[in-house]
Amino acid sequence: MTTPLLLVHGGAGDLPADSRAAHAAGCLEAARAGGAVLIAGGSVVEAACTAVEVLENNPIYNAGVGCALTRSGRVSLDTAVMDGHSRHAAGLAALDAFPNPVRIAQAMLEEPEVLLVGQPASEWAERHGFRRVPEDELTTESARVQWHKVVEEGADPNFAGGTVGCVARDAQGHLAAATSTGGTMGKQPGRVGDSPLIGAGTYADSVCALSATGQGEAFMRSVFGARVADAVRYGEAPNQALKRMLERTRDFFGGVGGAILITAEGDPHFYWTTPGMSHAWWTPDATGSGI
Ligand code: ASP
Repeated sequence: MTTPLLLVHGGAGDLPADSRAAHAAGCLEAARAGGAVLIAGGSVVEAACTAVEVLENNPIYNAGVGCALTRSGRVSLDTAVMDGHSRHAAGLAALDAFPNPVRIAQAMLEEPEVLLVGQPASEWAERHGFRRVPEDELTTESARVQWHKVVEEGADPNFAGGTVGCVARDAQGHLAAATSTGGTMGKQPGRVGDSPLIGAGTYADSVCALSATGQGEAFMRSVFGARVADAVRYGEAPNQALKRMLERTRDFFGGVGGAILITAEGDPHFYWTTPGMSHAWWTPDATGSGI
């Protein structure tokens, strides 16, 4: 038996000082919601998806409501879930406006396919009872302002306000990971980031579970999640593996970001190569948050 543990992140980046407290509080609320699932005897997948759903529903994060927009101002969502015990995994990419994409990935876990993209992915979701909403329902004023700055004024996309993710462990040491995002602001229509790709931004097995955030192209090129997980499996200390691969993703593959990681027993791990990453943790006895 091990101590149940759940970590969330609300994106790596350079958050403005006046939104930091809200980002940390939102992460803490999500971590508590996921923790409540574990306490009630729910699965690690359900706990991770519940925490991510809370973050998707919070308009300050770049997932669900509040998501980043494509170059043409459209919603295009990426998400994935992986169950470390069964090794089942599901991702959906370039998905239309669904309020809680992570729940669609959860529903897809038992399917033979691991990744669905674009219009057929949205159709799959509708056939399985998920409701597409008008894009306006997921588009906040703040996302529009940011889109205008990036697409029309050429500002740096700065992915602060980010992608959301969760990793969860139950008392048996079972692990799960989930990630959800609108991607990078002003991205090409059809662009897919690291988040929905198993072994890049999302990964879980019997040894560790992780969710990443940051410049997705670099995380895909570095095959971030798979490399961290294998390093841990073959004996590298988890905090060292996380730091080394985030620095390698920055220095060798050209992109900064952060990640959360847990193992089947032991401590929580967070690391980022950006100025910050909003995050929170939950155990049955303690919770906390940071930026
Ligand atoms: N990794 C995400 C992507 O590239 C963005 C982020 O984490 O903020 O789609």
